[in-house]
Amino acid sequence: MPIKIKKVLLNTLIVVITMSVFLLLTPINKAFAKKVTPEFDAHTQEKQAVKSYLMGKFNPSKHPAFAKVPRKYASRSGFYLREEALDAYKKMAKAARKEGVKLIIRSATRNFDYQKRIWERKWRAQKKSRSAKNKALHILKLSSMPSTSRHHWGTEVDLNAFNNKWFETGRGLKLYKWLTKNAENYGFSRPYTQKGKQRPTGYNEEKWHWSYTPLSIPMIRDARLVLNDASITGFSGSQTAKQIGVVKKYILGVSQSCQ
Ligand SMILES: [Zn+2]
Repeated sequence: MPIKIKKVLLNTLIVVITMSVFLLLTPINKAFAKKVTPEFDAHTQEKQAVKSYLMGKFNPSKHPAFAKVPRKYASRSGFYLREEALDAYKKMAKAARKEGVKLIIRSATRNFDYQKRIWERKWRAQKKSRSAKNKALHILKLSSMPSTSRHHWGTEVDLNAFNNKWFETGRGLKLYKWLTKNAENYGFSRPYTQKGKQRPTGYNEEKWHWSYTPLSIPMIRDARLVLNDASITGFSGSQTAKQIGVVKKYILGVSQSCQ
């Protein structure tokens, strides 16, 4: 075959191959574009999953990352914590016991439904004459709105007594001093310290509430990114979340050591 014809044939072949590749790639490109969308969806879904978790919309007894608190560490059975938090808590409780301090878990994880029962019971007990906002503010002195409690996260424990005074004398004071000195070595810190310059907004002081910060600090950082007042719905008085600015004032209104 003369070289010229060979060259023409070769060129034709190149054109045909290029066109075929182009035609073949067009649907692939389309498919790729489609693939990108699910990736965006996955990202949105992930954000949604983080949001649901932080808002306590799951059952801790069925969640794979949670473990049941053995009865001997608590005032009753049926409490759950994130596994890492429970491991650290056990170490802390054992160390405290050696020094004559008996730590008792009085409350641990409470999901949205649980918190909703607490909140609505308190809501019904409010004076009828109070405005919705004032009812909410009154309850918020000590209790969280469903969706906004740190107890949703599986990282929080309430210890021994729901009463600051108990921690100010005798056995309570000894326990409190022990925790203040040692808890941070096990990862625990108090989010609800005295209100003032350091912590101008949020719940009143709770000497019984301790947080496992290796997990709860990343969670509060996520909370800052994904939670908003508008998504707090589904219980009596939830419309006040926005008026009050619950996310900023309460969820983020914690001590420096917890953020
Ligand atoms: Zn608490």
